[in-house]
Amino acid sequence: MSAPLFRQAKFLKSVADLPGLPGESAREIAFAGRSNSGKSSVINTLADQRQLARVSKTPGRTQLINFFALGDGRFLVDLPGYGYAKVPAATRAPWGRLIGEYLQIRAQLAGLALVMDVRHPLTQLDWGLLDWFAPTGKPVHVLLTKADKLSRQVALKTLREVRSTLAETSSNWTAQLFSSLKHTGIDDAHAVLCAWLAAEMSETTDQLGPAAA
Ligand code: GDP
Repeated sequence: MSAPLFRQAKFLKSVADLPGLPGESAREIAFAGRSNSGKSSVINTLADQRQLARVSKTPGRTQLINFFALGDGRFLVDLPGYGYAKVPAATRAPWGRLIGEYLQIRAQLAGLALVMDVRHPLTQLDWGLLDWFAPTGKPVHVLLTKADKLSRQVALKTLREVRSTLAETSSNWTAQLFSSLKHTGIDDAHAVLCAWLAAEMSETTDQLGPAAA
């Protein structure tokens, strides 16, 4: 089952620079991950929409931040995949900077969903992003996707290792197994990500309550 909230996802806009970021967002979750990690498939699976984030794309050409509206000022944000070796450095640098700046300055960003191929977790590039994001103090949820490619036993062992490594750095970095192919892990991801989106919504409602009365 996909999350009802994520099912409402509708493409809003692609953004190439910080001034282009939508001001109407109250709360958003960003999805990041290496090229080919399975990030587009995760977004499509969570939203129960086949083509929401394009699964078939030329690596390195997706250098835009894509915003998907969920309603009530909430957004899913698809960051460009990183680490595609064949992209010339000159092309790579600007989107690296765009992701980096977005992750550090975006006040509305509630947390980071970091997609990794369960067979290649926590690569050096992933750590580059995590180290960059850590000072924000915001939560990170690692989705170890393509879990169907490993036996249950090996996948669970990987999950335990990733969780314990993440815990060494931050207490609000979590991880789970996921498979877009087998549709597993959807409820767990839903629970974590919807809680991030809901937190500020209820705070905002609380703040608006007295003023509105
Ligand atoms: P992205 O580049 O990170 O957006 O990755 P994609 O979502 O485009 O997926 C990359 C490749 O991995 C595609 O060939 C997908 O069909 C495949 N893939 C994605 N998720 C899964 C999964 O859960 N299981 C399996 N077996 N393959 C997957």
